[in-house]
Amino acid sequence: MAILLTGGAGYIGTHTLVELLNGGYEAVVMDNYTNSSPKALERVKEITGKDFKSYDADIRNREDLEKIFSENDITEVINFASLKAVGESVEKPWEYYSNNIGGTLVLLDVMRKHGAKNFVFSSSATVYGDPAEIPITENCPKGVCTNPYGWTKSMLEQILMDIQKADPEWNMVILRYFNPVGAHASGRIGENPKGRPNNLMPFITQVAVGKRDELGVFGNDYDTPDGTGVRDYLHVVDLAKAHVKAIDKLRTNPGCFICNLGTGHGYSVLDMVKAFEKVNNVKVPYSIKPRRAGDIAQCYCSPKKAELELGWKAELGLEDMCRDAWNWQKNNPNGYED
Ligand code: NAD
Ligand code: UDP
Repeated sequence: MAILLTGGAGYIGTHTLVELLNGGYEAVVMDNYTNSSPKALERVKEITGKDFKSYDADIRNREDLEKIFSENDITEVINFASLKAVGESVEKPWEYYSNNIGGTLVLLDVMRKHGAKNFVFSSSATVYGDPAEIPITENCPKGVCTNPYGWTKSMLEQILMDIQKADPEWNMVILRYFNPVGAHASGRIGENPKGRPNNLMPFITQVAVGKRDELGVFGNDYDTPDGTGVRDYLHVVDLAKAHVKAIDKLRTNPGCFICNLGTGHGYSVLDMVKAFEKVNNVKVPYSIKPRRAGDIAQCYCSPKKAELELGWKAELGLEDMCRDAWNWQKNNPNGYED
């Protein structure tokens, strides 16, 4: 009984791997390293003291997948493999649809051939578009996505539900992540964006470490308490633990299950900057810039369903997120190249 983590060398994949291995689960990793480094997996071995198999493989490549499924007894798949840069997806829609949707379709086909019909999918709050209600519950209708990346998540959710409806032997857990930030407390694994970060927290840490001059705050005229955008940031270790719960759910209480993963608290861009400065005693210079296209004013969830039906609740707070993000960045200013 092994769990396959596609994209397992990435940010959320490595943190989930740590939690699974520490929990005594057997895991197999595959990644094509397009946005990650095999060194991250070495660090997971160092943190956990445990070994696992890993494959340099692509979810679009049927032969790669056949090899993995025939060499291992895969019972569940957690599908992290995805391209995820919102701006790049607008420039390269074909690449995003092909990688994220095309790749997942090949993966699902190989899974059903091998009778492994248990799937955990990394979805996103982005499927709600500009949310109809705040805090966002799972009953909130899906919305209009503002970029191809978001559509790959929204469309894949639909595809998974259609597949499960046609063949109830499938069990699908769809996890809608809000804003994962932070890093493992060891400071050995963390978020390692290639090039200029799109997301707020890696941008803040790169400013703090001196790799960027200042943070551009995208708009201060939103209808929020301080005018800057509000999001539901959650610690990546909490998020990783939710995946362990998702595997337990698949093993004990299967079916089709969708849930939000967040803390339920909304913090503004300036709240994040101030918290980061205070917790770490560093300066994060910033200036106000125009709004970023496609951004919404606020987005935070009700995490009640996850608590009631998955048995998961975020335990770490804003201080932990800021401290661990900085600990990772300052000890690894060049990511896994250090
Ligand atoms: P990441 O880029 O660090 O990890 C994704 C991994 O997938 C990378 O290691 C990459 O090399 C690999 N990959 C990409 N295409 C592949 C392919 N065709 N075959 C094999 N491997 C492939 O991203 P992450 O932050 O760890 O995100 C994990 C998942 O969570 C993604 O599906 C992402 O869309 C989703 N998600 C992330 C966030 C976030 O803010 N980080 C929010 C919501 C959802
Ligand atoms: N943001 C910002 N400057 C940056 C990156 C992000 O002001 O360099 C803001 C962004 O406008 C949003 C919040 O920070 O209000 C979170 O952005 P991120 O891209 O991390 O997450 P998302 O908007 O996808 O939820």
